[in-house]
Amino acid sequence: HTHQLPPHVLLIPFPAQGHTIPLLNLAKLLASKGMAVTYVCVQHRISRLQRDHAAASLDPLIRLVGLPERVPVGELGIDEGAGITPWFMEVAAYMEDDFVQLVHKLRAVAAGEESLGAPIFIVSDTFLWWMHDVAVSLKIDYCLFFTSPASLLSVMLHLPVLISQGYVPLRLSAEPRLITLPGLAPAWDMELLYVIRDSLPKATLQRLTDAAYKLSETAPTILINTCYELEANTIDVLQKYESINQTKINVQALGPVLPLQLLHDNYVDLYQPDNRKEEEKECLRWLNSRSPASVLYVSFGSVFIPSLENITELALGLEASSHAFLWVLRPPPGVASGDQSLSLSVLLPEGFESRTKDRGFVMSPWAPQLSILSHPSTGGFLTHCGWNSTIESIFMGVPLIAYPQFAEQKTNCRMIVEQWKAGIQLQNDENKKLRKEEIEKIVKILMEGEEGKQMKKNVRQLRDVIRSSWKKGGSSYTNLQAFVQKLFKIFAGSTHEADI
Ligand code: UDP
Repeated sequence: HTHQLPPHVLLIPFPAQGHTIPLLNLAKLLASKGMAVTYVCVQHRISRLQRDHAAASLDPLIRLVGLPERVPVGELGIDEGAGITPWFMEVAAYMEDDFVQLVHKLRAVAAGEESLGAPIFIVSDTFLWWMHDVAVSLKIDYCLFFTSPASLLSVMLHLPVLISQGYVPLRLSAEPRLITLPGLAPAWDMELLYVIRDSLPKATLQRLTDAAYKLSETAPTILINTCYELEANTIDVLQKYESINQTKINVQALGPVLPLQLLHDNYVDLYQPDNRKEEEKECLRWLNSRSPASVLYVSFGSVFIPSLENITELALGLEASSHAFLWVLRPPPGVASGDQSLSLSVLLPEGFESRTKDRGFVMSPWAPQLSILSHPSTGGFLTHCGWNSTIESIFMGVPLIAYPQFAEQKTNCRMIVEQWKAGIQLQNDENKKLRKEEIEKIVKILMEGEEGKQMKKNVRQLRDVIRSSWKKGGSSYTNLQAFVQKLFKIFAGSTHEADI
């Protein structure tokens, strides 16, 4: 009986879009290799995935399970000042008990006839800092999945050293200092360490520090949603990294984890309007009507929302650029609510919609981003430099306008602009405000200038490199094969025990 069952793996992302989406793609990858996957997250996120990511098309080997929502995870537009870090820590803390109970339940059910079998392995989001202790007490193997770049992982693993050298927590009032971490270009402490600054609540700081030590001490296997060739220097350094107690860490680049069809070179299906929700159909049909590489896609991910003032400048800048644009616009919290279409007009400058109606498409609150990026009409992406947005754009060969906000977005921006030369940065003025003249200038550079052409060339080269990492023998392909083999080995061991 046990031999008929597929190996059963538990996947648990942190409940934010930038985490749930790549882990769902990983679930699909594992299912395609014959694994049964229970994908666990706060119920609200599960419902979002079912709505936005056609859970209907899920492999029957994947099961989605919701945990209770103890802290609201649905609200958008938490700004960095108001404390995204304390929120992250609180949400993660609440998931621990619910997860443990779920594993007990799955094991109890597995004793029954028709079940999937007990889970043999956990793939956990790195931000669930409690996972190591939980896995030890449940006597189950685990590894971590890191949804940000290797550069941020390097910062996290070096935190104990940075703490001992007095760099962490970052003192906001101190003079800026340059930090050189092995495998990374020198960067300002403000950029690199802002997530762990002295203005955070004491309890949050303590938790972050504990988590950093734990990660270093336990030196787990960490799969990173990046591609070796994108961050080779950093990954080489991480593979030599030794923890506080001299344990080697096992770090593998296993990304970008995108929908299977993309990894199999099928891009066209993604932007066919058939079988789509009405508003997506409309957006894809609009893209179909535009000429190749002529549209600038404008979106800032699932968390950051520009202020009303900056939304106005953005609108006027886009208008002045004379280029076509597809803009995903969400109202800043408390500004406008109720009827969606009404509230969008309230956000935009007077007459903007009618003046730009022959070349602008504004949608809210959510867009089919991968479909848009893969569409031949899309020629540029104005982004907040979230890691998923960054790698999705590069995978599709779309050059970027980088407008980073918080978390590791500033270091992502450096990679985009300085290392890969795949985009150009949009800066605020000295009062930290966007200016329409600057937007107009930057959009024109990207969409029509010589510099823009060069960036497009560079991003396409990078695209080819990333795509080939998923071909047979490529880096991510090989790392995935090795990981899958390891899971089958663990499974063989566990069924052998069960037979005895
Ligand atoms: N996304 C989307 N539609 C939207 C906004 C975002 O599909 O309207 C997806 C996007 O493709 C990416 C994720 O949500 O996979 C956002 O992750 P990212 O790391 O870029 O930014 P975050 O939301 O974490 O700031």
